[in-house]
Amino acid sequence: MGITLKDLSDRYRVCDGHKFHLKNFEPDDTWKFKSKEDVDELLDHSLKRLADMQGRLYAQNEWALLLVFQAMDAAGKDGTIKHVMSGVNPQGCEVYSFKSPSTEELDHDFLWRCMRRLPERGRIGIFNRSYYEETLVVRVHKEFLANEKMPRQLVTKHIWKERFEDIANFERYLSRNGVIVRKFYLNVSREEQKERFLKRLDDPKRNWKFSPADIRERQLWPQYMDAYEDTIRHTATEQSPWYVVPADHKWFTRRDAGLAQVEISRSAAGHSQRLCCRARGVDEGEIAGSGGRRRLKHVVDRSVLREVVKRIGSVKHTHGQQQHRAQIRNR
Ligand code: ATP
Ligand code: MG
Repeated sequence: MGITLKDLSDRYRVCDGHKFHLKNFEPDDTWKFKSKEDVDELLDHSLKRLADMQGRLYAQNEWALLLVFQAMDAAGKDGTIKHVMSGVNPQGCEVYSFKSPSTEELDHDFLWRCMRRLPERGRIGIFNRSYYEETLVVRVHKEFLANEKMPRQLVTKHIWKERFEDIANFERYLSRNGVIVRKFYLNVSREEQKERFLKRLDDPKRNWKFSPADIRERQLWPQYMDAYEDTIRHTATEQSPWYVVPADHKWFTRRDAGLAQVEISRSAAGHSQRLCCRARGVDEGEIAGSGGRRRLKHVVDRSVLREVVKRIGSVKHTHGQQQHRAQIRNR
């Protein structure tokens, strides 16, 4: 049908939050897609590329990718994350779910617990909820802020503006250190959430997913929507964009996973190619054409080798390396 994942990612990406309005993003939008089959076709293509791209990210061991998922209950975060994971090697990817903060976590600044879970270089980290809860649930339930034990004089009417600044600065810090941050808001409608809650109640196999607290939060829907809108407005940047992805059609939600996969591929391909080129001093165009992949592999091998030689700095060790190689080959 001629739509690529890049087209999709352009459609739902918010890079400049200043003019962002949630009402411009329809939760039941499916764009030109009519069926599950249309989406599957697109995603199968991305899955094939994904493993290769993640391998590059891992081998290069310089960049990391952080994918943040935020949504109201029953929007499909878990399912989307499962689909993202289906395409990547679990050894290079870690998912962490943030719940209400523990006593230990409340004894620290709000970013502390998230910092501890950041992905290592070469890896992909997925946050199921995140530090964004601080400008969402904590803003809607002001009593949670009181639990955070902040010095009283620091909690003023500017607190939310300050949190936005802190989060934006944190993400800028991460991107300057090689951690690429991409944020996904799964945009489900209030009506669809109701349908999903009812299904959970009716179906014994899904009962466990339902919590009475979900109903209480649902009653605060308008406050949550205001909080999401304000959050995206203040934190969508060119460096760390938000994706506001329609989540009312379950078959379409797999496409959200596709967008995340595209980000993995992009960061792996874009950054590792550019770096390798710089290391070798060749033109990027040289590896962009057909047969580029093989040449790129060559580039990686050479530059890594050169780095090893530079670090070891003596023939003796290089010779030792050769001996190790020989030993391995003979086993
Ligand atoms: P699911 O319901 O699909 O299993 P979930 O992400 O909703 O997944 P829950 O255990 O139901 O997981 O909820 C976690 C709760 O923790 C959410 O209501 C969330 O708003 C809350 N939470 C997360 N971070 C914070 C925070 N910093 N302060 C207060 N509450 C938080
Ligand atoms: Mg929940």
